[in-house]
Amino acid sequence: MKHAKRRRRSRRKSQKFTLPTIHLVIICVLVIAVFSAYLYFSHFQFSYTLNNGAISLKHFTVKQEYLTPNPYSRSQKALKKVNAIVVHYTANANTSAESNRSYFNGLATSHTTRASAHFIIDPDGTILQIIPLNEVAYANYPRNYDTISIECCYKDTNGKFTNATYQSLIALVKALMSAYHLDSGDVIRHYDVTGKLCPLYYVRNPKEWTLFKQRLDGWNIFGVIYL
Ligand SMILES: [Zn+2]
Repeated sequence: MKHAKRRRRSRRKSQKFTLPTIHLVIICVLVIAVFSAYLYFSHFQFSYTLNNGAISLKHFTVKQEYLTPNPYSRSQKALKKVNAIVVHYTANANTSAESNRSYFNGLATSHTTRASAHFIIDPDGTILQIIPLNEVAYANYPRNYDTISIECCYKDTNGKFTNATYQSLIALVKALMSAYHLDSGDVIRHYDVTGKLCPLYYVRNPKEWTLFKQRLDGWNIFGVIYL
């Protein structure tokens, strides 16, 4: 009798221990699976290719429409090193990436100033690359020779980017950070170079700029950046 009671008690004890353990293992496996899937898809979202100065993003539209070579906007001088990525706004509300590209291309004949950028992002999120990444752009003197420049279009007169422009900007900057081994500290505003109020909304609202940089950071695991 005594032995049988003890056996029953020990069986009950081992059952109490086993069931929560199984639950814990199942929960751990599920958490690891969900986390792995999250990392996989978030990385996949920002995959890119860089080929002879042209960048392509897997899930965002990038069109290479290079400017006609000319001394005013595309001098074809070599960009030998990249220490920073500079964000601008076009200072011209409700204009498209194509119309800003036409302006830069027109400098070849108008000769009014020297100006350009590597990229212009349309309000609809389309990214135009107008200068190859192995050439300098004239966007933020005196840092033209060690930076990549991105012009952003906008609709709101306060200079805030549309959501589509903002999402494309994050994807493009994250790809460039990865390609050139830069971190979010190397992503700057035109304002940080010269004090110019550019990009206006993100100079007047420094918290929005900080938030943008936090979004760029995401998680950096073994050199690969995840959102
Ligand atoms: Zn600027």
